[in-house]
Amino acid sequence: MKAWLTFSPSIVNKAIISNLVKNYDITFNILRADITPKGGKMLIEISGTQQKQAVEFMEKEGIHLNPINKVVKKDEEKCIDCGACISLCPVEAIKPAEDWTVEVDDLKCIGCSFCTNSCPTRAIRVME
Ligand code: SF4
Ligand code: SF4
Repeated sequence: MKAWLTFSPSIVNKAIISNLVKNYDITFNILRADITPKGGKMLIEISGTQQKQAVEFMEKEGIHLNPINKVVKKDEEKCIDCGACISLCPVEAIKPAEDWTVEVDDLKCIGCSFCTNSCPTRAIRVME
């Protein structure tokens, strides 16, 4: 699952993430992070057998968790492989393939919609 974690100033200095990785059977990837002593946000991707327990632990420790349930879809009939959407994607979910067509990786997408407005043929859409 992918989710935004929000840290309040009171928990920024707690070793929540290191305890999480140490104590639960999960793989934890940080996709983006913007955290200062005043608090902040982190975009994460977690997988593994103890995801549910890991989420419960984070919430118990005071992290506000906002799961991302959006997926991006590209209409192959409409896409002209112009590449206009590639550089706009903050998580590199859109890439050129070896044959120079444009590929979209649903699993990496965080549903930001930056790509949708750039598409000249309206071939790319974000859905719940
Ligand atoms: S919605 Fe955002 S994250 Fe998903 S493919 Fe488009 S630009 Fe990338
Ligand atoms: S901007 Fe639209 S047409 Fe161009 S590569 Fe992306 S999805 Fe295809």
